[in-house]
Amino acid sequence: MKYETERREIVKACQDMNRRGINQGTSGNISVRVKEGFLLTPSGMAYDEMKAGDIVLMRPDASHTGKRKPSSEWRFHHALMTSRREVGAVVHTHSMFATTLSCLGMEIPAVHYMVAAAGGENIRCAPYATYGTQETADNAVKALQDRNACLLANHGMIVIGPNLKKAMWLAVEVETLAAQYWRALQVGKPNILPKAEINRVIDKFKSYGQAKEPAPACC
Ligand code: 13P
Ligand code: ZN
Repeated sequence: MKYETERREIVKACQDMNRRGINQGTSGNISVRVKEGFLLTPSGMAYDEMKAGDIVLMRPDASHTGKRKPSSEWRFHHALMTSRREVGAVVHTHSMFATTLSCLGMEIPAVHYMVAAAGGENIRCAPYATYGTQETADNAVKALQDRNACLLANHGMIVIGPNLKKAMWLAVEVETLAAQYWRALQVGKPNILPKAEINRVIDKFKSYGQAKEPAPACC
């Protein structure tokens, strides 16, 4: 089967999303760039029953090959894959805390320095649009400008990364930030770090970690 390794990685990542508590049921979807376009999860399939052969191949002209119907969110995967050449993977989840904030229409401000991992001083919340629509895709592309993560109002979150490993890492980070922000809000008014400090952190991330190791997902 063509792209068997990538297909298996997607199936494993879907199962990891649910196991790690950042998604549930058949919500969420994942895509990974390949030579001919991108591989995408099928719509509405239980992740523990999903097999490599269920993953759909989608091309830049939006045609697709595979025995399954592609994710209903193929439009934002397609829009991000075509407009952001640096993107190797897109992860969408309905994680609890990110989704809770999105239901309030709230962005995640620089409540912790790790917000810099998403590329800037905040993680924006895209306006609500019906799932699967071009409007959702357009809103997501806009909210992700100069960013690697955004919330989708009354829906969930999207993260992008150069590869699936880094995108999955960032999805967990965004959910952690959302949980921290939510908890801080229960007690008082969180202190928000200035933009200059977040820019400094973004710069420091470039040399974070072990020199011989692959760069951390945030860089
Ligand atoms: P799919 O099962 O079609 O990917 O839809 C899940 C989802 O999260 C819609 O926003
Ligand atoms: Zn969704």
